[in-house]
Amino acid sequence: MHELLAEAVADSAGSTAVSDTAGSWTYEQLDTHAQAFSAWLADQGLRRGDRLVVQVPTTRELVAMFFGAAMRGVVFVPLNPGMKNFHLGPVLENAEPALVLVTAAAAENVETLTGAVVRDQDSVWTEIEKYTEAGARTEHAAVEPDDVAVLVYTSGSTAAPKAVICPHAQITFASAAIEDVIGYRPGDVVFCRFPISWDYGLYKVLLSVLGRSEIVLADGASDLVLLRRIRESGATIVPIVPSLAAMIVRLAEREDDPAPKVRLFTNTGAALPQATIDALRAKFPGCRVVRQYGQTECKRITVMPPAQERERPDAVGLPLPGTEVLILDEDGRELPPGEIGEIVAVGPHVMPGYWRNPEQTARAFRTDPVTGARRLHTGDYGRLDEDGYLYFDGRRDDMFKRKGVRMSTVEIESAATDIDGVRAAAVLPPEGERDLVLFVETERGRAEVLRELNARLEAQKVPSTCYVVDAIPLTQNGKNDKKKLVELLEGTSK
Ligand code: ASP
Repeated sequence: MHELLAEAVADSAGSTAVSDTAGSWTYEQLDTHAQAFSAWLADQGLRRGDRLVVQVPTTRELVAMFFGAAMRGVVFVPLNPGMKNFHLGPVLENAEPALVLVTAAAAENVETLTGAVVRDQDSVWTEIEKYTEAGARTEHAAVEPDDVAVLVYTSGSTAAPKAVICPHAQITFASAAIEDVIGYRPGDVVFCRFPISWDYGLYKVLLSVLGRSEIVLADGASDLVLLRRIRESGATIVPIVPSLAAMIVRLAEREDDPAPKVRLFTNTGAALPQATIDALRAKFPGCRVVRQYGQTECKRITVMPPAQERERPDAVGLPLPGTEVLILDEDGRELPPGEIGEIVAVGPHVMPGYWRNPEQTARAFRTDPVTGARRLHTGDYGRLDEDGYLYFDGRRDDMFKRKGVRMSTVEIESAATDIDGVRAAAVLPPEGERDLVLFVETERGRAEVLRELNARLEAQKVPSTCYVVDAIPLTQNGKNDKKKLVELLEGTSK
């Protein structure tokens, strides 16, 4: 993975690599800091395979740590700064780190949770600067492609987060395959609103390096200044999730200034409503809106080639080059095009499993009974068309039957956001006594929303209850937080 940085330094040393609110580094400067961090890790006694947990905001320094750890063969474990003790405790136990880097404010608390050495990033970075000034470098460790580069903790809906094991080989394959389709290039400025602790943010760093582009780290930027920061940074590529896209549209609607010159919006993580796509196209003339679908367990599954973004508007794209998507029925039999079944990914991007979690690994990562190839069972449902494009129907938990009709929360949510004035929507499927419920962010009345929904969906798919809320609760990754919605409903929200 760190070879990708070395290659960028070889031909683009002076180009801007990474910026945050405090400044920018060229590829050469990024490499110098990464080398210094690597040398510092060696002096701390960290060896190949040791885990380094970092729970700090996403800044240039974190990018340098990411590459520096890879150079030493140290496993990089970025955690969301918002992760609380309830999850942090079990995560630290599971990762069993050799070293934990946190903010100065968090150090005391984290020390109570782990026996590992805990250091605060400010004091560490003062040391690193000395290494940098001295031009410190160490021999890179003898890293093998199958060595684990990163553990990405993904939040489970109930249990503690589990870590996807991400080896160098899978990460570099997936990065190159995505870059092949999306095509980041020199001169591109990638405005990244996501933390590196989410794979969506992490791979933006790698894609930017592959494209010799600049990444602007904007996690934590206030919503209100978002559009201004996009404009001032000269962003040409903006990775989005639906909630971020809706926010950008809302800000653009309020402004008279010409829209920033964004050439690509790329979406993943949750389905992007057509209304949001249309609004982005209207507000950012000439932009392309690329639909994608992925899971951390293999990074990305499909990407809609940018040149085809207006075709097959319901599809989420083609499998990454060099990979395959199968649709299987409940008995594991392959289904023909057009039929809905479980989405299964096959290829060099499929990760080896979850860290120290054999049960969950066995459930999601299985082998092809004929070829023996590792396959990722996503737990998501979808279908392929005759030309191999994938259509996403929802997670297993999102699919349900009501009044005898099979449906998914995704289709109801996208019908709701199609209604003029509905900014965001979330649906809870029926469970026990509870019927289908819709939550919407809008100035319109609930009866009106339901009437509009009735005009768009079969009667069985129209919820009996609709709540108008100020803001749909979101997870740290900007997805609808269904657990919080249930709490809202039960009046148990904190
Ligand atoms: N890994 C996914 C992707 O990049 C994002 C996600 O897991 O939500 O497509």
